[in-house]
Amino acid sequence: MRVGVSSLLSVAWRRTLDLVFPPRCVGCRSFGSFLCSHCLATMPRARPPRCPVCWMPVLSPAEGPGDGGVCRRCRDRPRAFEAARCPFVYGGAAREAVHALKYQGVSAVAEVMAREMAECLEEWAPQAAALLPVPLTGARRRSRGYNQSEMLARELSRLSGLPVETGLLVRRRGAPPQARAVDEAARRANVAEAFAVRQRDPLPGPLLLVDDVMTSGATLDACARALRGAGHGPVYALTFGRED
Ligand SMILES: [Zn+2]
Ligand SMILES: [Zn+2]
Repeated sequence: MRVGVSSLLSVAWRRTLDLVFPPRCVGCRSFGSFLCSHCLATMPRARPPRCPVCWMPVLSPAEGPGDGGVCRRCRDRPRAFEAARCPFVYGGAAREAVHALKYQGVSAVAEVMAREMAECLEEWAPQAAALLPVPLTGARRRSRGYNQSEMLARELSRLSGLPVETGLLVRRRGAPPQARAVDEAARRANVAEAFAVRQRDPLPGPLLLVDDVMTSGATLDACARALRGAGHGPVYALTFGRED
Protein backbone atom coordinates (compact mmCIF):
# COMPACT_ATOMS: atom_id res chain seq x y z
CA MET A 1 0.00 0.00 0.00
CA ARG A 2 2.78 2.34 1.00
CA VAL A 3 4.65 1.61 -2.20
CA GLY A 4 1.50 2.23 -4.24
CA VAL A 5 0.91 5.60 -2.60
CA SER A 6 4.52 6.73 -2.96
CA SER A 7 4.64 5.76 -6.60
CA LEU A 8 1.34 7.55 -7.19
CA LEU A 9 2.75 10.63 -5.51
CA SER A 10 5.84 10.35 -7.61
CA VAL A 11 3.77 10.24 -10.79
CA ALA A 12 1.69 13.19 -9.55
CA TRP A 13 4.90 15.08 -8.78
CA ARG A 14 6.27 14.41 -12.24
CA ARG A 15 3.06 15.62 -13.82
CA THR A 16 3.28 18.75 -11.68
CA LEU A 17 6.83 19.33 -12.86
CA ASP A 18 5.66 18.94 -16.45
CA LEU A 19 3.16 21.70 -15.80
CA VAL A 20 5.41 24.05 -13.85
CA PHE A 21 8.17 23.96 -16.45
CA PRO A 22 6.80 25.05 -19.82
CA PRO A 23 6.89 22.38 -22.53
CA ARG A 24 10.21 22.24 -24.32
CA CYS A 25 11.00 20.05 -27.32
CA VAL A 26 13.12 17.05 -26.32
CA GLY A 27 14.78 17.16 -29.75
CA CYS A 28 15.76 20.81 -30.29
CA ARG A 29 14.95 22.41 -26.89
CA SER A 30 12.60 24.98 -28.45
CA PHE A 31 9.66 26.01 -26.28
CA GLY A 32 6.03 25.22 -27.06
CA SER A 33 5.67 21.43 -27.06
CA PHE A 34 7.46 18.32 -25.85
CA LEU A 35 8.17 17.27 -29.41
CA CYS A 36 7.95 20.06 -31.97
CA SER A 37 6.45 19.49 -35.41
CA HIS A 38 9.83 19.98 -37.07
CA CYS A 39 11.57 17.31 -34.95
CA LEU A 40 8.62 14.97 -35.34
CA ALA A 41 8.67 15.38 -39.12
CA THR A 42 12.41 14.73 -39.34
CA MET A 43 12.47 11.70 -37.05
CA PRO A 44 13.67 8.60 -38.91
CA ARG A 45 10.65 6.47 -39.77
CA ALA A 46 10.91 2.68 -39.76
CA ARG A 47 9.69 2.25 -43.32
CA PRO A 48 9.58 -0.97 -45.35
CA PRO A 49 11.13 -3.05 -46.86
CA ARG A 50 11.48 -4.76 -43.53
CA CYS A 51 11.23 -8.25 -42.08
CA PRO A 52 7.50 -8.88 -41.52
CA VAL A 53 8.29 -10.56 -38.20
CA CYS A 54 10.85 -8.37 -36.37
CA TRP A 55 10.60 -5.25 -38.61
CA MET A 56 14.36 -5.18 -39.15
CA PRO A 57 15.38 -3.66 -42.50
CA VAL A 58 15.89 -6.40 -45.08
CA LEU A 59 19.31 -5.58 -46.44
CA SER A 60 19.84 -7.87 -49.39
CA PRO A 61 17.66 -9.98 -51.69
CA ALA A 62 19.43 -13.04 -50.24
CA GLU A 63 17.89 -12.20 -46.91
CA GLY A 64 14.44 -12.79 -47.89
CA PRO A 65 12.12 -12.44 -50.82
CA GLY A 66 11.92 -16.23 -51.20
CA ASP A 67 10.73 -16.46 -47.60
CA GLY A 68 8.28 -13.62 -47.72
CA GLY A 69 11.03 -11.22 -46.70
CA VAL A 70 11.63 -12.84 -43.29
CA CYS A 71 15.15 -11.94 -42.13
CA ARG A 72 17.84 -14.49 -41.46
CA ARG A 73 17.72 -13.87 -37.72
CA CYS A 74 14.01 -14.73 -37.53
CA ARG A 75 14.46 -17.75 -39.81
CA ASP A 76 17.36 -19.12 -37.75
CA ARG A 77 15.62 -18.54 -34.45
CA PRO A 78 11.84 -18.36 -34.75
CA ARG A 79 10.30 -15.70 -32.55
CA ALA A 80 7.68 -16.43 -29.91
CA PHE A 81 5.81 -13.31 -31.05
CA GLU A 82 3.95 -13.23 -34.35
CA ALA A 83 5.22 -9.85 -35.45
CA ALA A 84 6.59 -6.56 -34.14
CA ARG A 85 6.09 -3.04 -35.50
CA CYS A 86 7.20 0.48 -34.62
CA PRO A 87 6.82 3.92 -36.17
CA PHE A 88 10.46 5.01 -35.78
CA VAL A 89 14.07 4.02 -35.96
CA TYR A 90 15.79 4.65 -32.64
CA GLY A 91 17.90 7.69 -33.50
CA GLY A 92 17.83 11.48 -33.57
CA ALA A 93 14.84 13.02 -31.83
CA ALA A 94 13.28 9.55 -31.40
CA ARG A 95 16.17 8.65 -29.11
CA GLU A 96 15.82 11.93 -27.24
CA ALA A 97 12.11 11.26 -26.72
CA VAL A 98 12.78 7.80 -25.28
CA HIS A 99 15.47 9.21 -22.99
CA ALA A 100 13.19 12.00 -21.80
CA LEU A 101 10.49 9.48 -21.00
CA LYS A 102 12.77 6.92 -19.40
CA TYR A 103 15.33 8.93 -17.48
CA GLN A 104 13.95 12.42 -17.01
CA GLY A 105 10.37 11.45 -16.25
CA VAL A 106 8.85 13.81 -18.81
CA SER A 107 5.47 12.10 -18.64
CA ALA A 108 3.82 14.40 -21.17
CA VAL A 109 6.12 13.14 -23.90
CA ALA A 110 4.39 9.74 -23.57
CA GLU A 111 1.26 11.26 -25.05
CA VAL A 112 3.06 12.45 -28.18
CA MET A 113 4.89 9.14 -28.55
CA ALA A 114 1.72 7.09 -28.06
CA ARG A 115 -0.07 9.09 -30.74
CA GLU A 116 2.51 7.94 -33.29
CA MET A 117 2.26 4.37 -32.00
CA ALA A 118 -1.54 4.50 -32.25
CA GLU A 119 -1.31 5.53 -35.90
CA CYS A 120 1.08 2.67 -36.57
CA LEU A 121 -1.26 0.27 -34.77
CA GLU A 122 -4.27 1.41 -36.75
CA GLU A 123 -2.49 0.87 -40.04
CA TRP A 124 -1.08 -2.49 -38.96
CA ALA A 125 -4.31 -3.78 -37.34
CA PRO A 126 -3.10 -6.94 -35.58
CA GLN A 127 -6.56 -7.32 -33.93
CA ALA A 128 -5.15 -7.18 -30.40
CA ALA A 129 -7.56 -7.60 -27.50
CA ALA A 130 -5.36 -6.11 -24.76
CA LEU A 131 -2.16 -4.11 -24.24
CA LEU A 132 0.62 -5.55 -22.09
CA PRO A 133 3.41 -3.16 -21.10
CA VAL A 134 6.78 -4.89 -20.69
CA PRO A 135 7.24 -4.89 -16.91
CA LEU A 136 10.23 -3.62 -14.95
CA THR A 137 11.43 -5.44 -11.85
CA GLY A 138 9.66 -4.27 -8.69
CA ALA A 139 12.88 -2.67 -7.45
CA ARG A 140 13.47 -0.70 -10.62
CA ARG A 141 9.89 0.44 -10.81
CA ARG A 142 10.10 1.67 -7.22
CA SER A 143 13.36 3.53 -7.76
CA ARG A 144 12.10 5.15 -10.98
CA GLY A 145 8.59 5.65 -9.66
CA TYR A 146 6.97 4.53 -12.91
CA ASN A 147 7.34 2.14 -15.81
CA GLN A 148 7.82 4.03 -19.07
CA SER A 149 6.27 1.17 -21.08
CA GLU A 150 3.18 1.31 -18.90
CA MET A 151 2.93 5.06 -19.48
CA LEU A 152 2.99 4.46 -23.22
CA ALA A 153 0.44 1.65 -22.89
CA ARG A 154 -1.92 3.86 -20.84
CA GLU A 155 -1.82 6.63 -23.44
CA LEU A 156 -2.21 4.09 -26.22
CA SER A 157 -5.21 2.65 -24.40
CA ARG A 158 -6.82 6.07 -24.27
CA LEU A 159 -6.34 6.45 -28.02
CA SER A 160 -7.19 2.91 -29.13
CA GLY A 161 -9.78 1.91 -26.55
CA LEU A 162 -7.88 -1.33 -25.83
CA PRO A 163 -7.58 -2.30 -22.15
CA VAL A 164 -4.18 -2.37 -20.38
CA GLU A 165 -3.31 -5.60 -18.60
CA THR A 166 -0.58 -5.13 -16.00
CA GLY A 167 -1.09 -7.99 -13.56
CA LEU A 168 -0.34 -10.90 -15.86
CA LEU A 169 3.29 -10.59 -16.81
CA VAL A 170 5.93 -10.08 -14.11
CA ARG A 171 9.67 -9.52 -14.25
CA ARG A 172 11.56 -11.85 -11.99
CA ARG A 173 15.00 -10.32 -11.85
CA GLY A 174 16.96 -7.44 -13.18
CA ALA A 175 18.78 -7.56 -16.46
CA PRO A 176 21.13 -4.65 -17.18
CA PRO A 177 19.12 -1.81 -18.74
CA GLN A 178 19.49 -2.22 -22.52
CA ALA A 179 23.19 -2.89 -21.84
CA ARG A 180 24.83 -1.62 -24.98
CA ALA A 181 28.13 -3.36 -24.47
CA VAL A 182 26.52 -6.76 -24.02
CA ASP A 183 26.31 -8.86 -27.17
CA GLU A 184 23.12 -10.40 -28.42
CA ALA A 185 23.67 -13.92 -27.10
CA ALA A 186 24.47 -12.64 -23.62
CA ARG A 187 21.49 -10.32 -23.68
CA ARG A 188 19.18 -13.11 -24.75
CA ALA A 189 20.47 -15.42 -22.01
CA ASN A 190 19.97 -12.61 -19.52
CA VAL A 191 16.32 -12.04 -20.33
CA ALA A 192 15.31 -15.59 -21.25
CA GLU A 193 14.24 -16.43 -17.73
CA ALA A 194 13.38 -12.92 -16.64
CA PHE A 195 9.62 -13.06 -17.15
CA ALA A 196 6.93 -15.08 -15.49
CA VAL A 197 3.19 -15.21 -15.94
CA ARG A 198 0.77 -15.13 -13.02
CA GLN A 199 -1.61 -18.01 -13.20
CA ARG A 200 -5.07 -17.19 -14.39
CA ASP A 201 -7.44 -18.10 -17.19
CA PRO A 202 -6.01 -17.28 -20.59
CA LEU A 203 -7.03 -13.89 -21.90
CA PRO A 204 -9.25 -14.05 -24.95
CA GLY A 205 -7.68 -12.95 -28.21
CA PRO A 206 -4.28 -11.75 -29.37
CA LEU A 207 -2.12 -9.71 -26.96
CA LEU A 208 -0.02 -6.68 -27.82
CA LEU A 209 3.21 -6.14 -25.90
CA VAL A 210 4.12 -2.47 -25.54
CA ASP A 211 7.67 -1.22 -25.00
CA ASP A 212 9.66 1.91 -25.74
CA VAL A 213 12.50 0.44 -27.80
CA MET A 214 13.23 -2.88 -29.45
CA THR A 215 16.89 -3.78 -29.81
CA SER A 216 17.53 -7.44 -30.68
CA GLY A 217 13.97 -8.36 -29.79
CA ALA A 218 15.18 -10.68 -27.00
CA THR A 219 13.07 -8.97 -24.33
CA LEU A 220 9.88 -9.08 -26.39
CA ASP A 221 10.66 -12.67 -27.34
CA ALA A 222 11.11 -13.67 -23.67
CA CYS A 223 7.81 -12.00 -22.75
CA ALA A 224 6.00 -13.71 -25.62
CA ARG A 225 7.54 -17.08 -24.75
CA ALA A 226 6.36 -16.81 -21.14
CA LEU A 227 2.85 -15.81 -22.27
CA ARG A 228 2.63 -18.56 -24.88
CA GLY A 229 3.92 -21.10 -22.35
CA ALA A 230 1.04 -20.17 -20.04
CA GLY A 231 -1.53 -20.60 -22.80
CA HIS A 232 -2.01 -16.94 -23.75
CA GLY A 233 -1.69 -15.33 -27.11
CA PRO A 234 -0.93 -15.12 -30.00
CA VAL A 235 1.39 -12.25 -29.09
CA TYR A 236 2.28 -9.16 -31.12
CA ALA A 237 4.58 -6.31 -30.15
CA LEU A 238 4.51 -2.57 -30.70
CA THR A 239 7.35 -0.29 -29.71
CA PHE A 240 8.00 3.39 -30.31
CA GLY A 241 11.36 2.73 -31.95
CA ARG A 242 13.76 -0.01 -32.93
CA GLU A 243 17.52 -0.17 -33.30
CA ASP A 244 18.35 -1.06 -36.89
ZN1 LIG B 1 12.16 20.18 -31.83
ZN1 LIG C 1 13.20 -10.65 -38.64
